[in-house]
Amino acid sequence: MIHALTIDVEDYHNVIARDWLGRDGPPTEAVVLNTQRLLRHLDASNTKATFFVLGEVAETFPELIREIAGLGHELGVHGYCHRQVFKLTPETFRCEVGDAKSRIEDIAQVEVVGHRAPAFSINPDTQWALEVLAELGFRYDSSIFPISGRRYGWPGSPQDIHEMTLPGGRSIIEAPLTTVPILGHRLPACGGGYLRHFPGWVTRWAIRHVQRRRPAIVYMHPYEIEVGCGPLDTSALSPEQARRVHRFHGLQLRNRHTVERKLLRLLGGFEFAPLGRVIALTREGGRGNV
Ligand SMILES: [Zn+2]
Repeated sequence: MIHALTIDVEDYHNVIARDWLGRDGPPTEAVVLNTQRLLRHLDASNTKATFFVLGEVAETFPELIREIAGLGHELGVHGYCHRQVFKLTPETFRCEVGDAKSRIEDIAQVEVVGHRAPAFSINPDTQWALEVLAELGFRYDSSIFPISGRRYGWPGSPQDIHEMTLPGGRSIIEAPLTTVPILGHRLPACGGGYLRHFPGWVTRWAIRHVQRRRPAIVYMHPYEIEVGCGPLDTSALSPEQARRVHRFHGLQLRNRHTVERKLLRLLGGFEFAPLGRVIALTREGGRGNV
């Protein structure tokens, strides 16, 4: 079984400054250094992945985008400025995603057909976004967590890669994020905070469990291997806001030092490919609900 490895390319420093501190600015050089470090690990294990890139990262660091494409990885879109879909209208979503798509395509000179929404924010309330994606020429989306989560989720949505026929008559392939049944609940287990917080064997067990039925879709961010981040300057915030930001920041930094080791173990123990390739294999093989 060949699993999908997907990397959401965003800069922690500028996303947290914008979302939590009210300070806007361009992505920092950290996103380049962290992504290049991941690229070296992938190269060493001869693994290709999908990089869902923010438009603002492509705009600020076009060389990084050319480097990712030059190494044979797939490029996708992760929005322009990391705005969750439920904060946008169909019109503003179209601009965010369309601008990011054309910028990445211009820089890398490749067609971009895959999308992942910031914070997996496509759910029953924002399903209009799939129609916009299909109209913009995206062939697949990987934004839906088929769970009932506190922050995200589309309960009852299929677990398998599947083609969705949209109300306007177009269709798009959905590659849902991987979940596993634990204690009677479906829970995410193959990436991001779950990779960071859980012991490494949990993710390896989850992939082995999932691969009996379908490929796993593993996701992570370049910043998750960045250690040595200092405290945030919250002096402009109220004490209550500052407490919330420090709590969030602390959770984000927790166990980052373990992620590189866990990733290397995954790369050594499983076979991964870009998501577009995994989708093609799934459709050729007739596995899953496609
Ligand atoms: Zn993101």
